[in-house]
Amino acid sequence: VKTTKSVAKVHSIHPLTDSILQLSLSPKTFVDYSAGQYLHILSLGETYPFSIANASLGSHKLELHIRHTLENPYNQSMLNEIKNKGEVLIEMPFGRCDITSLHPTKPIVFMAGGTGFAPVKAMIEQLLADCDERPIHLFWGARSMSDLYLEEMVLHWAKSVSHFDYHGLIDESKSNALSDKILKTIGKSLNTMQVVACGPFDMVYQARDTFVDKGFLPQWMFSDAFSFEGK
Ligand SMILES: Cc1cc2nc3c(=O)[nH]c(=O)nc-3n(C[C@H](O)[C@H](O)[C@H](O)COP(=O)(O)OP(=O)(O)OC[C@H]3O[C@@H](n4cnc5c(N)ncnc54)[C@H](O)[C@@H]3O)c2cc1C
Repeated sequence: VKTTKSVAKVHSIHPLTDSILQLSLSPKTFVDYSAGQYLHILSLGETYPFSIANASLGSHKLELHIRHTLENPYNQSMLNEIKNKGEVLIEMPFGRCDITSLHPTKPIVFMAGGTGFAPVKAMIEQLLADCDERPIHLFWGARSMSDLYLEEMVLHWAKSVSHFDYHGLIDESKSNALSDKILKTIGKSLNTMQVVACGPFDMVYQARDTFVDKGFLPQWMFSDAFSFEGK
């Protein structure tokens, strides 16, 4: 797959919570991508993968949701470089868990853990912009209420889009609560749907095992976690 490097200017940077930043980049050379794909930020000899959180609808901006904490010096040095220079080197596009790889008609269950919401947001934006009428179920699990950082927008979709529904979950324990909630809510019909899982890799593997136990065919589960580690 061909990727391109480009310098990208910081268009805006907003804290969504005290540990998640929304960064909007304007690349000097715009490279098209498919909703669900990710990019690399190349900073101080390190490579940082981040999902692109907006669909490619013509703004030529790239939105990222970046979790950061003071205990994570790795992210902090990259964020300092961005702050000092007002620009950053990126390489893209990466990833095969994107909207064009999905089955074209099966209803979609999106499973997002924490900032795994970023690529899910991009894919839902693309589906809405395309007037796609497939049923869309979004399950978003996070460690705290504030980690459901764009929930207001999601609730608005749930109110205004008849084929979209949303189920948020606060789960402090890194347990299988999110996959259990999906099974409880969707029931046996899950086996007629496709699942797109984005977030902590352990969450994705755990969910796949749980669903496959219930007769779900693994070929209808999509995640970057599978191509990343070859599982
Ligand atoms: C290709 C790629 C792209 C990435 N993109 C981003 C990005 O855009 N932004 C970013 O900040 N990081 C990104 N990362 C880093 C990483 O994947 C994030 O750590 C991940 O998305 C989880 O974010 P979180 O810390 O908010 O989740 P957490 O807060 O740790 O988890 C959120 C929820 O997920 C569920 N969960 C978590 N762990 C488990 C488990 N073991 N079993 C079951 N359920 C679990 C729970 O419901 C939990 O409440 C990326 C990594 C890769 C490889």
